[in-house]
Amino acid sequence: MSMLRIIESVPQGFVDAKPEQLEALLGGPTLMHLPGRNEPALFVSLMLHGNEPTGLYALQGLLKDYAGRELPRALSVFIGNVSAARYKMRRLDQQPDYNRIWSTGKDLPEYKMVDQVVAEMAGRGVFASIDIHNNTGINPHYACLNKLETPFLQLASMFSRTVVYFTKPAGVQSMAFAELCPAVTLECGQPGQEYGVEHAKDFLEACLNIHEIPKHPVSPHDVSVFHTVSIVKVPEDVSFAFGPRDVQIQFIDDIDHFNFSEMPAGTCFGRQFDKDAQLECQDEHGNDVSERYFSYHNGKIALASSVMPSMLTRDEKVIRQDCFCYLMERMELPTHLQHSQKQES
Ligand SMILES: [Zn+2]
Repeated sequence: MSMLRIIESVPQGFVDAKPEQLEALLGGPTLMHLPGRNEPALFVSLMLHGNEPTGLYALQGLLKDYAGRELPRALSVFIGNVSAARYKMRRLDQQPDYNRIWSTGKDLPEYKMVDQVVAEMAGRGVFASIDIHNNTGINPHYACLNKLETPFLQLASMFSRTVVYFTKPAGVQSMAFAELCPAVTLECGQPGQEYGVEHAKDFLEACLNIHEIPKHPVSPHDVSVFHTVSIVKVPEDVSFAFGPRDVQIQFIDDIDHFNFSEMPAGTCFGRQFDKDAQLECQDEHGNDVSERYFSYHNGKIALASSVMPSMLTRDEKVIRQDCFCYLMERMELPTHLQHSQKQES
């Protein structure tokens, strides 16, 4: 039996439900199709991580604003990990990460469920796809994309001028939907920030109201595109902490202040108390690039090249379940993706 529930209206009590009430209200992960004036539908996924409620609050605000009125465009919403939401967790220990299951291959009910979501949306047609997240460190709001194409850049730049391009990790929602339509992942700051909810809601409303995503290239002045060059992990058998504890690696305390700042080589990330305890860096092809990005001298852990970190967090559970951070470099858009003066005249 499929894990997915499919409904065609907003359930009673949904617009005021707290994340931890969704499982009881919906009965499980749910795809909700709502009609609107224009077709095809805008697709939105939210709560893929159970402790990231901004997408839910943004949708609830939008539905309240349109109560009793027709939506400007049809809207299909996938409400993801409601079991983890009940416990305010990213995922439960026995579950796969709901934003790493959007690729075929594994014989698990969660993979089959999201295959069904993609197949259903492919059959109905999709205008654009938006996956809404929060993160735990100090990060600006930004949009991520997995295809460097004009509609994707246009959609991303409607949310923020900071745009992150990545192709790993695989199995993220935006990568699956990139095969169907322009797709972005929104990072809306930390959970519980009112400004994140407002920003996501305004963006959803704008997407519902536009007739088409602009076809002309973006102006390079309007977007800063960063490309992920490495994912950084603490190996499972290496102990770490942010305060003075008996561990192999101690990170500097306010490390999340480094997010989205271009940091020079030599920047100290922490202390190493065991010379075999090192950070693991992988590039997008899965190659080990640890030596390119970190150096270890006299117990000091420092950047070996100039990079811009993102998603640095002090949350030890997130570091264990996901990663320590990503490293990015600023990238120049290829000329065919840049709006030039010539095209204007
Ligand atoms: Zn997330």
